[in-house]
Amino acid sequence: MELKILLRTLVFFLFVNSINSQQKFSKRAISKIKIEAEKLVEKDHKKTQVMVDKVFSFSELGFQENESSKYLTKILAKAGFDIDYGISNIPTAWTATWSQGNGPVISLGSDVDCIPKASQYPGVSYHMPIIEGAPGHGEGHNSGIPVNITAALAIQKIMKKYGLEGTLILWPGIAEELVASKAWYVRDGYFDDIDFCIFTHVGSNLGVSYGLARGTGLISVEYNFEGEAAHSAGAPWRGRSALDAAELMNIAWNYKREHLHPLKRSHSIFTDSGDQPNVVPSKASIWFYLRDITYEGIMDMYKDANNIAKGAALMTDTKFTSKIVGTAWPRHFNKVIAETMYSNIKKVGLPKWSEKDQILAKAVQKEVNSKTQNGLATKLSDLGKPSSVMVSGGSDDIGDISWKVPTVTLRFPSNIPGLQGHHWSNAIAMATPIAHKGATAGAKVVALTVIDFLNDKKLLNNAKDYFNNVQLKNTEYKPMISKDDPPPIYLNKEIMNMYRKELEKFYFDETKFDNYLEQLGIEYPTLKK
Ligand SMILES: [Zn+2]
Repeated sequence: MELKILLRTLVFFLFVNSINSQQKFSKRAISKIKIEAEKLVEKDHKKTQVMVDKVFSFSELGFQENESSKYLTKILAKAGFDIDYGISNIPTAWTATWSQGNGPVISLGSDVDCIPKASQYPGVSYHMPIIEGAPGHGEGHNSGIPVNITAALAIQKIMKKYGLEGTLILWPGIAEELVASKAWYVRDGYFDDIDFCIFTHVGSNLGVSYGLARGTGLISVEYNFEGEAAHSAGAPWRGRSALDAAELMNIAWNYKREHLHPLKRSHSIFTDSGDQPNVVPSKASIWFYLRDITYEGIMDMYKDANNIAKGAALMTDTKFTSKIVGTAWPRHFNKVIAETMYSNIKKVGLPKWSEKDQILAKAVQKEVNSKTQNGLATKLSDLGKPSSVMVSGGSDDIGDISWKVPTVTLRFPSNIPGLQGHHWSNAIAMATPIAHKGATAGAKVVALTVIDFLNDKKLLNNAKDYFNNVQLKNTEYKPMISKDDPPPIYLNKEIMNMYRKELEKFYFDETKFDNYLEQLGIEYPTLKK
């Protein structure tokens, strides 16, 4: 018996010594360690489920993620992570750091905020708000940090057991829907000493891509006009309407739109349109998201918008100021990390969906007239490669981080394919077994990929080589915010104050219920009669 152990140890050391000195463990040894990591993630499925359900129930809008941040950092602190609260002067932002030895510094991020007016009962295939008009997780940001925490806890155990060296830093994408934190983190130095970043985001398949991502970057700017109040009927000739200016700016931009390249996208809302009709509005504000696929294109739109604001002020004899309230660079993802991750995606595979999961997915797809009506993904998507044709679409301020350090975004299958996004239907799956299984699959991929990088120094060198010599070859990152622009942490405060008391009644209590569906008394799935 003892001889057997001795032999086994000898074989093990032969493996370790015979391989490239860049690797701590041989291919065979690390494969075994990775299988162990997968099992650790699987074993934590219950913990993952509770985290996903809990954050879903908090339903907090950008910059108001108080409960979510408090809850998630508590779990990390308990596991020995050092928490740094309020980074970049954002009260709900934080980093959680755990370190062993001198290895690479690995950043794991994901968003946490939700969508206005997207309140929705999970597991119900049609529109049924938990609280009418309240925010809800109609983007699925309740699942990403639970994915990262589950992965980090497994990685930490593996690092301790096998003496792998490195540092893990977890962080939340605060106010992603306002694209208003990550450029600030970069500006304030939180990514200066990071080797690479794995970002996770909910999707409807398990996937990763490299090169320029589909979609746009953007600048988010609010224009504030100021005129002169007057009695709207008694002395309208004495008034100068700030609202006229804001409306004229909007009209001018809509004319401009005809001459924008189709890859550009722009949208606006009025954030102040006066108080009541009988007072000429002395103040009015309009808020634009200006999007394009290149930094230069975004800055051109910004310049045009500034000119239009000047014109509108001139026409109405009003004044204006403007402020940047969010920015996002177009995203570029790292080839080496993406390829390493994709090999792990193939190992992990898609979750096994139950019949109930598929019934719910198909019913939701039908409800929203989706082009896709065949339920949840059962075939892995291919590794996303740079496309020769650029595609417009949404943005994510992970873009700024992707130009600072080698970065990828892992998309994990916690949601239903073919939904429109930023909508109550995108919340339906997000506290059901679909979200829970998708999060576990995502956590496995993150854990395996991090372990690959901890084990093999060459991977990180190659990732940095791609970053410095391919990605940065013709592009220089220039922040869109100045060193003084503050993060707009006042946003969403009033809306959250309006709903928080009501929402509190629905916070998930894992001490009394197994899952959130059970607490809400929802039969899974609930279909239209
Ligand atoms: Zn998102």
